[in-house]
Amino acid sequence: MKNTRSICLLVCCLFGGWAQAQTTVPSYPDKPVTLIIPFAAGGPTDVVARMMAIPMGKSLGQSVLVENVNGAGGTIASNRVARAAPNGYTIYLHHMGMATAPALYKKLPFDPLKDFEYIGQVLDVPMTLLARKDMPANTFPELLAYIKANKDKVSLADAGLGAVSNLCGLLFKSMIGVDINTIPYKGTGPAMNDLLGGQVDMLCDQTTQTVPMIKEGRVKVYGVTTTKRLAALPNIPTLDEQGLKGFEVKVWHGMYAPKGTPAPVLDKINAALRFAMQDPTVKQRMADLSSDIPPLEKITPQGLKTHLEAEIAKWDPIIRKAGVSAD
Ligand code: ASP
Repeated sequence: MKNTRSICLLVCCLFGGWAQAQTTVPSYPDKPVTLIIPFAAGGPTDVVARMMAIPMGKSLGQSVLVENVNGAGGTIASNRVARAAPNGYTIYLHHMGMATAPALYKKLPFDPLKDFEYIGQVLDVPMTLLARKDMPANTFPELLAYIKANKDKVSLADAGLGAVSNLCGLLFKSMIGVDINTIPYKGTGPAMNDLLGGQVDMLCDQTTQTVPMIKEGRVKVYGVTTTKRLAALPNIPTLDEQGLKGFEVKVWHGMYAPKGTPAPVLDKINAALRFAMQDPTVKQRMADLSSDIPPLEKITPQGLKTHLEAEIAKWDPIIRKAGVSAD
């Protein structure tokens, strides 16, 4: 009898411990997940985030809520995520600005290589050089002539130091040798509104926002920033073939979480990202917007970390040579 009682006591203790273990490790996620993006609503990053949030939510079994945190070319949002609780309820979608920020901002409050966990690469997006619909120039040579004849009047919109619209503008201005007046916005969503309204003359922006505007004839387009023409915009020449030899900006994106987010949680978020990137609706929409979904081996933590390290090393000397860093 005594033995039976002690065995029963042992089983109860073991079961209690097992039950306790299960209740102290909550099943993630048990509430909605916030996906922060570093630019204003309506822009290309916002388009990508809202497209992915639906299939990611399906995979996680909880809503993925997009939150726009604007300012300073994305660095305000990056810092917010770096300081967020590492519990999987704050994740982050940012583009190659994560790699250019260390060279652009001398006093960056976070370190892209120390303050984040890496979930995976997301998307590669080309850019297009645009002007307002009633811009007098109809061809790239006419645009260059117009800019040179009106260099104190022409205005170029972007989303601030660290945004890819700013980077594209910097490369464009340095290659044509004209320092065009730049107007910063909280994202290229608001910048596009002003371009469509004629309040600003030019904008270099990602196809995830610009393809519909171009196809509807709501803007003028002079070139694409890839070395090959785009399937969705076959009649638009590259800037490289029009004389800006070597001009290439293709905007890669990555998904991150705060440093210290537990590995089982990161695995679930990575599985949700991969699910979203294989979603037929997402794949079709991205193809329509001339954007490339990376191979599955890049939609991994190591795939993103390795790429980020290489991109930081690539852009550092380019940015320092351009002398555009901010304090
Ligand atoms: N991707 C940014 C946005 O969505 C713009 C930029 O980086 O130029 O507004």
